[in-house]
Amino acid sequence: MIIVMKQTASVAEISGVIRAVETAGLKARPSHGARETIIGVIGATRTKVLDQIGTMPGVAQMTPVSKSFKLVNREYKPENTVIKINGVSIGGDEFVVMAGPCSVESSEQLKESARAVRAAGGRILRGGAFKPRTSPYSFQGMGEEGLKILLAAKAETGLPIVTEVMAPELVPLVSRYADILQVGARNMQNYSLLEAVGRVKKPVLLKRGMMCTVEELLLAAEYILANGNSQVMFCERGIRTFEKATRNTLDICAVPVIKQCSHLPVIVDPSHATGRRDIIAAVSRAAVAAGADGVIVEVHPSPETALCDGDQSLHFDEFEAMMDELRPIAAAVGRRMAPQTAQS
Ligand code: PEP
Ligand code: MN
Repeated sequence: MIIVMKQTASVAEISGVIRAVETAGLKARPSHGARETIIGVIGATRTKVLDQIGTMPGVAQMTPVSKSFKLVNREYKPENTVIKINGVSIGGDEFVVMAGPCSVESSEQLKESARAVRAAGGRILRGGAFKPRTSPYSFQGMGEEGLKILLAAKAETGLPIVTEVMAPELVPLVSRYADILQVGARNMQNYSLLEAVGRVKKPVLLKRGMMCTVEELLLAAEYILANGNSQVMFCERGIRTFEKATRNTLDICAVPVIKQCSHLPVIVDPSHATGRRDIIAAVSRAAVAAGADGVIVEVHPSPETALCDGDQSLHFDEFEAMMDELRPIAAAVGRRMAPQTAQS
């Protein structure tokens, strides 16, 4: 259920309605839009109390939210959510490129990557320190040491950091270093992790599980919002299909579908979607055109010797060329992109 307040509703009327909802044992989640305030009501909503709330001063209308996801729904918050991180806005006019290696491997590898990402106009630095690997014998990431390396690269380049958190108990540690907490595809339905990232005040990049529907993705985000954190961005990173030409199949339809029914930003990951660097630029171009708010791309100083996902990591010159290809497409769909900056 959502309660739409009149545009003229006073602060006292809004808090009166919130109090009434809470007194009824339900949770109230107000969203203060540019035009009106909408109050999301969470909990069993078929009570007589709600009928009474409907007649309270300041209430314009009460509408049941048709979908199982509520707080992520555009019906609840019609305006786009714009997430601001150290001067970078995600979900606004800018098409934001996040890039960096799959995994942090060394200080040199990450610093070189960060400089190249920044020089080409990338805005956020990615790099895994805790890695979810299919085989227990593969490189598992550098752990906290990797987080320290990320922080040093941020100090040098000014690029905010996105990095994965794999378990609820790691949320406090990773939150101390990261600007954006990544929940990986394999953890999209780890509900205790979703609750844990919901309880912190850090933006979350929520990747779509490789076997999950769009609705399941929206409901995973609902867990995070229901726990108090509304700074969530979705990431379409490809799903498993019968197709073997690519590592996964990018569901490009998910981009406009999610943008239509949710106010939260959508990022595309062409690296994990394709698994092959030769088509990453083409898929990124499609992402911009389809209305994504950004891409997250793997780049590496020496993909041939990368400890993880080398086949899908761009060389720096390929990344720079891709950025040049994206700019006119972004402009054509009304988005701007950061220009190249001089290498320091
Ligand atoms: C990653 O971003 O390096 C990663 C492991 O991605 P995903 O969870 O989408 O497989
Ligand atoms: Mn990877």
